[in-house]
Amino acid sequence: MPRTRSPAPAPPEVKFTNLDKVFFPETGFTKGELVRYYVDVAPFILPHLRGRPVTLIRYPDGVTGEKFYEKNAPKFAPPWIKTHEVPRRRHEGTTRYIVIDDAPTLAWCANLAAVELHPFLHRAPELDCPTQVVFDLDPGEGADLRDCARVGFLVKAITDDLGLQCLAKVSGSKGLQLYVPLNTDVTYDATRAFAKGMAELLEQRHPDLVVSNMAKVRRQKRVLIDWSQNHEAKTTVAVYSVRGKREQPFVSMPVTWEELKRLKDPMKLFFTPEAALRRLKKVGDLFEPALKLKQKLPAAFSSVGERAAPPAAPDLAAYKAKRDFTRTREPAAAPASASSSSASKASKRAPRSGKNSAPHFVIQKHAATRLHYDLRLEMDGVLKSWAVPKGLPTALGVKHAAIEVEDHPLSYMKFEGTIPKGQYGGGTVMVWDLGTYELLGGDHASGNLKIRFAGKKLKGEWHLFKIRSDEDKPMWLVAKSGRAAKPFSPFQENRSVLSRRTMEGIAKAADA
Ligand code: MN
Repeated sequence: MPRTRSPAPAPPEVKFTNLDKVFFPETGFTKGELVRYYVDVAPFILPHLRGRPVTLIRYPDGVTGEKFYEKNAPKFAPPWIKTHEVPRRRHEGTTRYIVIDDAPTLAWCANLAAVELHPFLHRAPELDCPTQVVFDLDPGEGADLRDCARVGFLVKAITDDLGLQCLAKVSGSKGLQLYVPLNTDVTYDATRAFAKGMAELLEQRHPDLVVSNMAKVRRQKRVLIDWSQNHEAKTTVAVYSVRGKREQPFVSMPVTWEELKRLKDPMKLFFTPEAALRRLKKVGDLFEPALKLKQKLPAAFSSVGERAAPPAAPDLAAYKAKRDFTRTREPAAAPASASSSSASKASKRAPRSGKNSAPHFVIQKHAATRLHYDLRLEMDGVLKSWAVPKGLPTALGVKHAAIEVEDHPLSYMKFEGTIPKGQYGGGTVMVWDLGTYELLGGDHASGNLKIRFAGKKLKGEWHLFKIRSDEDKPMWLVAKSGRAAKPFSPFQENRSVLSRRTMEGIAKAADA
């Protein structure tokens, strides 16, 4: 039948596909049930999503398959899907985020297998005005929701003292998330300083229970208060979003302090979509204050962004001083905002530390005056860097020299290309390995780092320790620890993990 044209736009139609596909094999929960849930929960979740750019976590083959973080609205998104363009932080261009303001958009996203919805803490277009503070309480090994609840009450005691109401929701994964609604004029600098101060204070007072630093991976039986979510670039799972992290679908659901106080069996606070809808019918939206309540942080925090530079502003002066960015295509050491560096073709974007994700490392093979490997570890907002002439040893008992050099900007992580002759470090650079690492022990300041690498080539433990603190170039040694690793094959030795190119290939491409 031909459609009649009317002045009002036709209500968008969402075509649903593959509704019988099982998304959670353990319970047989299907995509159809996921879509149904989001349609039913729309009246409750939409007010919380309204205006917020959102990252979708899509599981097209269910939770046992691969997942995708969809930040950019897909090209095939129909024109009625609302989007908001957000400038990228480290590179040129923008990301076109979906904004879920209505039920059809929500249903469309669900049909896209967006099991999880992760909105920003701000609403567009005010990208630097979070509407709330969030504390993401993440239990370490041996800890569970009950420990999170204990930490939750420690936070609450302080917010109570400050006259601030604090809301709690289970993440639907393992932990608990606390929200302090603001809905007043505030910056991320202020909310982050507040959350960080809180986390550090509680770690100091309760070292057996609280960890405030993500890099401290050894947090057995303790709870990480992740304050770093309070950032313009970070998203947090939405209230009423389903999670794809477990064998069964659980919902990130508001809970009362009374429920947390009485909590004996953590499973009592895991809600399936069905249970979530039943509960919503009974108790309504316990997170409503997050929408309306206007609160202000104590003045000491609300002025943080205005007075001081953000804590631990990365010092890249040495990096900058050595390079002429009109000559080299290495990334300029621009601050985190709107970098204008003309990155090389291969250096698309630095991997970003997402929520709870481990810090990154890169090893760059560098054919400078002498061939060497540059090891760089993401730490305190920069890449701590070492030149390792012989590369990392694979056999036990072998120590290779590692000369510490100037900190590099995070955007250096994916730099591959040729630094012009005559420039500092002139020669070809290959991204030899890339991945994440876990700090097993020690820290940079004490010259002792025990690290487990999870790269494409490097897997396992290595130990880095400082033997001489020369002014300019402190000398470290790097040794294999734990078990010996397989020596690298010639193919591994001479291939970029980023572009699969050889050193020769990279050099040639740059000449072309
Ligand atoms: Mn180098």
